[in-house]
Amino acid sequence: MPELPEVETVVRSLQPTITGEMIARIDTPWQKVIATPDTIMTALGHRIESVARRGKFIVLNLTSGALLVHLRMTGRLYTYLPDVTQEPYVTAIIHFESGKRLTFQDTRKFGRIFYADDLATFFEHLGPEPLGATFTTKWLTDGFSRRCRLIKPLLLDQSFIAGLGNIYVDEGLFLAGIHPLSLSHKIPSANSKKLHDAIRGLLENAIAAQGTTIINFQHGDNRSGSFQHQLQVYGRTGEPCRKCKTFITKLFVAQRGTHVCLKCQMLFV
Ligand SMILES: [Zn+2]
Repeated sequence: MPELPEVETVVRSLQPTITGEMIARIDTPWQKVIATPDTIMTALGHRIESVARRGKFIVLNLTSGALLVHLRMTGRLYTYLPDVTQEPYVTAIIHFESGKRLTFQDTRKFGRIFYADDLATFFEHLGPEPLGATFTTKWLTDGFSRRCRLIKPLLLDQSFIAGLGNIYVDEGLFLAGIHPLSLSHKIPSANSKKLHDAIRGLLENAIAAQGTTIINFQHGDNRSGSFQHQLQVYGRTGEPCRKCKTFITKLFVAQRGTHVCLKCQMLFV
């Protein structure tokens, strides 16, 4: 599933291509892709003023309101698909007045498009951005001590912090030496600080590498990200830890496959 760095990469590839374009028509070969069917047509006749990201949402800011795209598992956006009627799994096509179009292709069909007239309301349940000013070491340490939750599901909870998913949570916990079954309020502040810095560093490096391509994340003109070559634990079950040579173990935490080095990562309970 695309996480913050992959969504940011998509946003950056869309910015020069669709900013300024006026929306003429929205076709939905698969109608359920539109999560807000009652209001979606409000977007017609509006220009895209900017393309941004909030959490894992792609935000197309319009002259009034915004369209929001969530890629979920396998969603991909194209600005160049030559003949969309020939392409399988196309769920939506946004046609622009200039003749350009933005095509949403999604094999699993969990991806959705929303219209919102007020972004503050739409995002009111979303936690802070991990690359934003609110996400400080103190904020994270306080947030952990106020809750007594398993650390991994807490970090995946978009209302606690926005944008993280399975890959970057596993990687961050490894870098901070925290076992994913640890309890948030038992984590020493030294490890919380390490985790804060690890999350920031990981996301920045992954954005620089244009994301992680595990199964089918691609962006722009079918380019792939390359951060998978820097992963320490994610997807490395049975391979030796890069720090201590212990074999990486796969656990299930809150039904999510979780990669851990049992020697490098301490269980705080
Ligand atoms: Zn290790």
